[in-house]
Amino acid sequence: MSLQECDTIVSASNAILDGYTDTDVAIAIRDGLIADLGKKGDVIAKWQSKNELDLGRALLMPGLINAHTHVPMTFLRGFADDLPLMDWLTKHIFPVEAHLTNRIVALGARLGMYEMMRGGTTGFVDSYLLEANVLEEADKMGMRCVAGEAVFAFPSPAYPNWEAAADLYRAQAEKYRNHSRIKLCMMPHSVYTTSDDILRQSMELAQELDIMYHIHLSESAGEVAQSKELHQGMRPVEYAKSLGLLTNRSIFAHMVDLTDQELDWVAESGAQIVHNPVSNLKLASGIAPVADMVSKRISVAIGTDGAASNNSLDMFESMKLAAILAKGAMKDATVIPAEMAFKMATQEGARAMMKPDVGVLKIGAPADMIALDLNEPNVVPLYNEISHAVYASNAKDCILTMVEGKVLYQNGTYADGLYAETVAEMQDLVQWARSKANSL
Ligand SMILES: [Zn+2]
Repeated sequence: MSLQECDTIVSASNAILDGYTDTDVAIAIRDGLIADLGKKGDVIAKWQSKNELDLGRALLMPGLINAHTHVPMTFLRGFADDLPLMDWLTKHIFPVEAHLTNRIVALGARLGMYEMMRGGTTGFVDSYLLEANVLEEADKMGMRCVAGEAVFAFPSPAYPNWEAAADLYRAQAEKYRNHSRIKLCMMPHSVYTTSDDILRQSMELAQELDIMYHIHLSESAGEVAQSKELHQGMRPVEYAKSLGLLTNRSIFAHMVDLTDQELDWVAESGAQIVHNPVSNLKLASGIAPVADMVSKRISVAIGTDGAASNNSLDMFESMKLAAILAKGAMKDATVIPAEMAFKMATQEGARAMMKPDVGVLKIGAPADMIALDLNEPNVVPLYNEISHAVYASNAKDCILTMVEGKVLYQNGTYADGLYAETVAEMQDLVQWARSKANSL
């Protein structure tokens, strides 16, 4: 029997596949997709490959998906810490953001993507100002990205009003229509920075363009109090419901301050929630009721939020915290077991990207995968691969990151060769950001 040709064969001692784990595994990749997988001997017997990556004692697994972030905000990492959400946002972050340039956004996006690929994240859902730069940099750097310009009721550097923002969305949706890794997502910032009309019209546009609708919602007690005051006593979720925003294309980031009734409405609508445990704790917003969400069968994905409120984009940290924070909050060690937290950080994230075939390693799926070094002391001995991925590993155990079969990071080296100059240029921005804050 003649051998079939593929582009790359990756082999490793262990793997987390589609609902099961295996040892001594090889994965054959052709045209960016997983063409075959199984025991190494069987795969090698069937496939001939141009490249072979034998990782030895390592854990192959799907890449993690950061389902809510603002990658350009790496440029404000450590800029303003130890403040509550509304003070942090209005007194420190918004004033500097008023002076943003395309170059700063592109640079922040580049740094964020280096950090994510270094830490085993292959895809991310993003919104920020001048987001066209994020889409372009993700295209160049090879990461999987679903993103959209942050929509506000006030003028932003990318548009003077909602009508112009809508035109921008239509143009970008057309530009990336057939792109396999890049997709648009409607991103109104929040109910407290938009208006009834913008919230309704942005949902109509999301339906027209057939993209997800992603918004910060019910993040803090302050947001709830403000909503009740401005919207006839309605809490944020009820207000969003009154505007028709609870749909199965809706994704609500945070959802910390909630009633049982609100969770029932979300469950009935089929909307998804993105849990951002580190950001919620750092801004003292509270602890999202993730165990209740899961018990109501709501899909929950995991995000880091931006690096200004985290301060890293480390999805291993967020995945572990999602599992253990819920246990502590419920005083029940059985809630959010490792398998569930792993699924939230992979398959549920894929749902947030409208790309359900990423998030598991299976034949026909895009080869978005990572490998963890199993020689490190923190992952010895090995009884259970998923337990190690969730509880024992950290981002720096990642030795290989691949998207659509292309290596983006391997053993300390970033494939695009621009890492050192990106870091140098980013460090030069520190003085600039300080001067903008001081000029208030
Ligand atoms: Zn956010």
